[in-house]
Amino acid sequence: MTEHEVNEIIQLISNKIEQLRAESSLKNQQSESALNATEKDATTGGYAFRYSHTDTDAEILNRDRKKEHFQLSRTLEWLKGDQPGNCVACSCPVTFERLKSKPTSRLCNACAQYINGDK
Ligand SMILES: [Zn+2]
Repeated sequence: MTEHEVNEIIQLISNKIEQLRAESSLKNQQSESALNATEKDATTGGYAFRYSHTDTDAEILNRDRKKEHFQLSRTLEWLKGDQPGNCVACSCPVTFERLKSKPTSRLCNACAQYINGDK
């Protein structure tokens, strides 16, 4: 990606994060510390977000937002890091089009297909 494209994705993600913050109760909870606490899990590809059958729809929705918020924040860090836009699995460049349509992913098409069945 060009620097311009990286900046465009950064802008896109920042807007999405703002939107999520506005929609959810993220602001009113200890969300920042909760999100920070999940950093370690993220390095292994797992999430510290747990689902239980007693959750209400609202709780699940809020958790989905937190998860998305977390994934977007992670992508944001990645784009501002040493190797912006390089696939975290194979280091080849992730295309601008892919990031634009799926900004929560830090994988190239090939790795996404291999690892997630292209989710
Ligand atoms: Zn890859």
